[in-house]
Amino acid sequence: MNKFDVIVVGAGPVGSTFARYIANEGFKVVMLERKREVGVPLQCAGLLGKKIKDINILPDEYILNEVYGAYLHSPSDIILKVGRKDPEAYVIDRVGYDKFLVEQAVDAGAELLLNHRVKGLDVKTGEVCVGNNSDKIFQGEVIVGADGHASRVSDEFNPKSKSVMAAQYLLDMKKDVFDIDNVNLNVNSNISPGFLWMIPISKSMARIGLFANKDYNGLNEVLKDFINHDTCYKNASILKKYQGFIPVYNSKKKIVKDRAILLGDAASQVKPTTGGGLIIGFECAKMAANTVSRALQMEDIKILNEYEYEYKKRFKNELKVQIEVQKIFESLTNEDLDKMFLKLKEGNAEALISEYGDMDTQSTLIKEMIKNRLLFSILPKLLTRRIGSLWK
Ligand SMILES: Cc1cc2nc3c(=O)[nH]c(=O)nc-3n(C[C@H](O)[C@H](O)[C@H](O)COP(=O)(O)OP(=O)(O)OC[C@H]3O[C@@H](n4cnc5c(N)ncnc54)[C@H](O)[C@@H]3O)c2cc1C
Repeated sequence: MNKFDVIVVGAGPVGSTFARYIANEGFKVVMLERKREVGVPLQCAGLLGKKIKDINILPDEYILNEVYGAYLHSPSDIILKVGRKDPEAYVIDRVGYDKFLVEQAVDAGAELLLNHRVKGLDVKTGEVCVGNNSDKIFQGEVIVGADGHASRVSDEFNPKSKSVMAAQYLLDMKKDVFDIDNVNLNVNSNISPGFLWMIPISKSMARIGLFANKDYNGLNEVLKDFINHDTCYKNASILKKYQGFIPVYNSKKKIVKDRAILLGDAASQVKPTTGGGLIIGFECAKMAANTVSRALQMEDIKILNEYEYEYKKRFKNELKVQIEVQKIFESLTNEDLDKMFLKLKEGNAEALISEYGDMDTQSTLIKEMIKNRLLFSILPKLLTRRIGSLWK
């Protein structure tokens, strides 16, 4: 039997970041990854708030573009322009970055086993089986489920995880047409609470995608319709098509059970409003590594429960606010959305969003909108009260 202090199931960006931290502490760690090659296929828009640089290593060579702001489009194209004079976010080469993070973990001493799909585990004994005939058995003091939206580790102590589908195209315009300083985000009741993004990676190339409660064909229809109806994309060639899943945030999900913990998409650690999971996942990887390290040093597996406590203390309120924002968006018709954009424009919200808006934390902006009564002017009283009550 292969014995380890920690077994990390999944060598995605969050699992490998955790593995690096724990290997740096001198523990014996293995990453079991079902794929033959890390990071492929791409399943990400690759947009990361500038905060990433404080949270994880991001070498400049993986940054394809820096963006300063966004154009937010209503269904009938009322546009809000928000942004700052310094870069707010990076557009990254996600495939390269995933590989880099795994290399960093291996350099720190973690073992990587590709083509190792975990089929079964025992959260009490720490046994993990790999392969069709459970032919390989690993044993860990701790098992970390960083195995993505349909986590096998989570299945062991949670109901089946729920996800929504996302689709994305890589577009080539063959000439310089894009404003590379800004992303474009479109809302429409047809795809709420999801949205459609256009993220420039150069003046001639962009990632266009969306997530919504639709199947792959439904998502493709919306994307094709969008490209065909906007004259700007008349000569666009679709170089690549991608698809992926975004976990639905579940506040009731157990993320610690006996010797197992969940991390990243496996723990539904994603921002409900945007589906972004990297920054929150990386923050949780650090939190989890501290707790796991203490549990191993003290030889007391019960310490693992502190990870769930810390995670909730840090993120529960922010995620609750985002869930409320998401529910409100879901309830609005296209007419409501247009009216809302109009009122926001009239109420000088562009300046307020530019000052207080943050890709990763929306509660600060919502608080400001309540304070200066902007939220009251755009939403029915009942909804405003529901959001306001989150701070009481
Ligand atoms: C279209 C799309 C666009 C996105 N855009 C953004 C964005 O712009 N910004 C952002 O922050 N986030 C974005 N996200 C979300 C982001 O990609 C995820 O939050 C992130 O990948 C989570 O990392 P992870 O390591 O937790 O999981 P994953 O990246 O899913 O990695 C899990 C790993 O586990 C492996 N695995 C799964 N099951 C097993 C098993 N049984 N045994 C062994 N290995 C297994 C998988 O092969 C995979 O390598 C987007 C997602 C999608 C789908």
